[in-house]
Amino acid sequence: MSDLTDLYGEVILDHCKKPRNFRLIPDATHKASGANPLCGDHIQVYLKLDGDKIADIGFLGNGCAISRAAASIMTQELIGKTKLEAEELFRKYHAMVTRDMGKPYEGEDLGKLAIFAGVAEFPVRVKCATLSWHAMEAALKGGATTVSTE
Ligand code: ZN
Repeated sequence: MSDLTDLYGEVILDHCKKPRNFRLIPDATHKASGANPLCGDHIQVYLKLDGDKIADIGFLGNGCAISRAAASIMTQELIGKTKLEAEELFRKYHAMVTRDMGKPYEGEDLGKLAIFAGVAEFPVRVKCATLSWHAMEAALKGGATTVSTE
């Protein structure tokens, strides 16, 4: 469990206890649900777009510390970004948490998201850390409104 203590750093625990933007957006223009059956995480992501820009984003759901913290921090990072910027950020974040641990982390400019770099050591947690992002991407694409990590 000592490895997990490192993974559940202070920032992650804070976001887990007090998730930011943990709310439904009644006039959301885009929304999607995500499920991670392996861990039992369920999440709904709501977005309100103003043109191409994410004017508001919120989420609801239940899940483990990593999934809640990842969703909370995602919403903070994405407010004000364009759809393209959001997709690009997800691409970098996904590359970080699925990287080969044998290689050093090159550290693309991920700001606060870099605290999830350690997740790459725990493949089973990668799905927890990316669930909200997959739901966000599905919401933006507007196709499937439910995503599953399985
Ligand atoms: Zn989880």
